[in-house]
Amino acid sequence: MPDTAPAPAAILLDALGTLVALEPPAPHLRSELATRFGVDVSEAEAARAIAAEIAYYRAHLDEGRDSAGLAALRRRCADVLRSALPEGLAGRLELDPLVDALLASLRFRAYPDARSALQAARARGQRLVVVSNWDVSLVGVLRGLELEPLLNGILTSAVVGARKPAAAIFEQALALARVGPDQAIHVGDSLAEDVAGARAAGIEPVLIRRGGGPPVPGVRTVSSLSEVITPAPA
Ligand SMILES: [Mg+2]
Repeated sequence: MPDTAPAPAAILLDALGTLVALEPPAPHLRSELATRFGVDVSEAEAARAIAAEIAYYRAHLDEGRDSAGLAALRRRCADVLRSALPEGLAGRLELDPLVDALLASLRFRAYPDARSALQAARARGQRLVVVSNWDVSLVGVLRGLELEPLLNGILTSAVVGARKPAAAIFEQALALARVGPDQAIHVGDSLAEDVAGARAAGIEPVLIRRGGGPPVPGVRTVSSLSEVITPAPA
């Protein structure tokens, strides 16, 4: 056995960009608008509208803390989407069916290494908690991708009432995993939310750069989750 640092008792994980990816939504939105409404928009128009929706969502996602809040948030997101589509279409896009079209355009997939890495960590007895700036629907997303049964917990900023980089959401994750900060690592793809947030809570951060990219001085950087689960030989 190579001489390696002891494996952490718990691994905290970001969701988007770490466990799951969002498929490019503009082509899906185009086809949903064509199929559901008979409306034709260009790829650029669809991309602009979805970008406006995502910006609104990111600023307001914590309003989706329960099913009623989530439904209201989704209607506002669809309204933002509609306003950002070409003028003249709004009258043809009823809000409730547009919510369905929007949701059908936002398709998440698990990264190919996600399941195997979580399974390997579980086999080693490590506890796994997702810490994500997301609305309450993340649990359903991870369940649909068959990741949820591999996790000890899923904490969303909307339900916790604190978003990364706030220490509160990391502290709740540690409590859920029943470990101290020195027994955990946190893996995520955002310097501002994941690395800074974990550090502020006393947890060692691991930056995941799935597309590669230069290393960040002073931050342990990996390009896949399997590197996190299998420590490099010393
Ligand atoms: Mg992320």
